[in-house]
Amino acid sequence: MRQLGILGGMSWESTASYYRLLNQGVRERLGGLHSAPLLLHSVDFAEIAELQRLGDWDTAGQRLALAAQGLQGAGATALLLATNTMHKVAPAIEAALQIPLLHIGDAVGQALQRQGVKRAALLGTRFTMQEDFYRQRLAERFDIEVIIPEPAQMAEIDRVIFAELCQGRFQPSAREFYLECIEALRRRGAEAAILGCTEIGLLLENASSPLPLLDSCELHVDQGLAWMLDGR
Ligand code: GLU
Repeated sequence: MRQLGILGGMSWESTASYYRLLNQGVRERLGGLHSAPLLLHSVDFAEIAELQRLGDWDTAGQRLALAAQGLQGAGATALLLATNTMHKVAPAIEAALQIPLLHIGDAVGQALQRQGVKRAALLGTRFTMQEDFYRQRLAERFDIEVIIPEPAQMAEIDRVIFAELCQGRFQPSAREFYLECIEALRRRGAEAAILGCTEIGLLLENASSPLPLLDSCELHVDQGLAWMLDGR
């Protein structure tokens, strides 16, 4: 197997899912005592979230690029950046690396194409929902039209991510609210909903949703597994 690097901790709640799902995936495919050859660099998310809040994406990009180089130097053959939002600085990380960064937007875009979805709702942080870096990739590379929630819903979705999900709080009230937002997006023509924040899948586990859900964390893990097990 090829060794994979995870740049995580954003937040560690979902990085723990990556670790578990990657190992489960290897066990399912290879059986026995096989487990995933991984390297993890886990950051202090408070520092990264503060840089996000300040809009200092250059410093955030530099920090993550340095961490990514460390993983490369330690023997990673490719990297998963285990957050949707920080893919805003994917170009800075890619520029610092010789190994590939397996882009979470491509994992999501390929899954939408496989399912024949043309109009997809996007739930994530305000950065992921409002800015271009994620939606444009889905539009340009995969011809997906992205629909985002109304401003008031967007603000609450974002608040819940930072104040609850990234702090390990998964509450029924938030779950209900997210499902209401998905229903509103269905009424506006969305055919599926992208869980474009790696913690949302933990909140909506086993939920009965008005739309098919595409969990960015799970799809990113599948992309990582395909890389690790390539040719096996
Ligand atoms: N894990 C989240 C994401 O997938 C949010 C944390 C962050 O802002 O990086 O976007």
